[in-house]
Amino acid sequence: MGEDGAIILWLRRDFRLADHPALSAAAASGRPVIPVFVLDPGTEAWGAAPRWRLGAALAAFDAALGRIGARLVLRRGGALETLLALIAETGATAVCWSRDLDPAAKARDTAVKAALKAAGIAARSFPGQVLFDPWTVETGQGGPYRVFTPYWKAVRGRDPGAPLPAVTALRPPHSWPASEALGDWRLGAAMNRGAAVVARHAQVGEVAALARLDCFLQSGIETYAARRDLPAEPGTSGLSENLAWGEISARTLWHAGRPGMEAGAVGAETFLRELVWRDFAWHLMAHFPELGSRNWRPEWDAFPWQGDSAAAERWRRGETGAPFVDAAMRELFVTGTMHNRARMITASYLTKHLLTDWRVGLAWFAETLIDWDPASNAMGWQWVAGSGPDASPFFRIFNPEGQAAKFDPDGRYRRHYLAAGAPGAQAFFAAAPRSWNLDPAAPPPAPLVDLAAGRARALAAYQALKG
Ligand code: FAD
Repeated sequence: MGEDGAIILWLRRDFRLADHPALSAAAASGRPVIPVFVLDPGTEAWGAAPRWRLGAALAAFDAALGRIGARLVLRRGGALETLLALIAETGATAVCWSRDLDPAAKARDTAVKAALKAAGIAARSFPGQVLFDPWTVETGQGGPYRVFTPYWKAVRGRDPGAPLPAVTALRPPHSWPASEALGDWRLGAAMNRGAAVVARHAQVGEVAALARLDCFLQSGIETYAARRDLPAEPGTSGLSENLAWGEISARTLWHAGRPGMEAGAVGAETFLRELVWRDFAWHLMAHFPELGSRNWRPEWDAFPWQGDSAAAERWRRGETGAPFVDAAMRELFVTGTMHNRARMITASYLTKHLLTDWRVGLAWFAETLIDWDPASNAMGWQWVAGSGPDASPFFRIFNPEGQAAKFDPDGRYRRHYLAAGAPGAQAFFAAAPRSWNLDPAAPPPAPLVDLAAGRARALAAYQALKG
């Protein structure tokens, strides 16, 4: 294991040059660095939109690496076999990566680390996915937090350290190992004709992420607290897409907002608090790896959730007849994201008015979101459904009409996606699969359920569970 052997930098969801501890350490070693992305079976199983967005992130990051004299080597296969093959080809003596807190990724990485070490290869993982690694935040009694507010209080005054400067050069290997062609992976194939529509809304890569942050700091953060719940307003940062792909670090956002919070600005404090919800989701998932697959509260296993159904399919297609819900489901399909307020309302409608298992909704979000984040998605669904830690009580059932009156008072959001010929509606019909047989001229669908009756049915089921 020569001192001068190359380092394989194994990239996963961390496509940035700035504040990237694993990349900075590899660059600082002075050794040749070979950045690699492995399309392993776990990654191939992701939903259509995340796979498409991954392809865009890979292309952008390859270009960014090109500007510092490097490139991204693409390989498909099992992670360990692929890394071992690359080690054999290149004589690399070390592999490093950013820790991924997703349970499946963690299991894979633990096995890879052990096997590499057994083969005499140095293997090292680095932080960077979250502000505070889950095991560094403990309650007074020890153990993980289950409730957000005390978690927020515990980390609010902490310093996650200053963001690292962008790496500006990487020493190349003597010769570059061959790379597969990104186009051959057909990562966008499952998006059908929706990809072109969604692409207009995506802001891909680190440069775009930093521009987005800049724009938000100039014109969004000050009014964030007042506007963040209004889906018709550009009142939030939009950075979840870039955070999900590691095109910007949470620490960079923290440092951007921190001076404002220290100075007492409500917008900055609210923004950092929301950012910490993302960390909290990873905290929960790291300590409860089944957050995305099982009711966090086991008593909810007895709840009469309904499985997938024709009603759930109408929810997915934005045909529930509840205008706010339908507009939001169209927003998801057109933009690959959905406003947070709308995520809560659509999730509440599915799990309460339609009494449908939250995992049905979680799966659709995982299929269609370009900011798909397994932890935030799981926490969000369990929070709304009432089955999660620190969840919204089940009996708090959002009324989509009341919510619309409050958060879309002039109907702008609903009109944009629902009114005949409106830009969002047009984009939706362009994005929707042909197999849905949608008719843009069809009248609005009749309500799937009467809102009061749906609410009463949900409450009765909840009372039965409690009884
Ligand atoms: P901003 O308001 O600008 O907030 C800044 C950052 O804080 C966000 O980018 C995000 O990283 C974090 N944040 C804000 N709100 C939340 C929240 N409620 N939970 C966790 N982090 C938050 N977010 C995802 O990134 N990916 C998902 O797959 C996802 N699925 C969700 C599913 C449901 C059912 C619900 C209710 C929420 C989900 N969220 C998810 C959280 C939230 O809706 C998005 O993070 C937010 O809409 C992103 O918009 P933004 O970047 O403009 O946020």
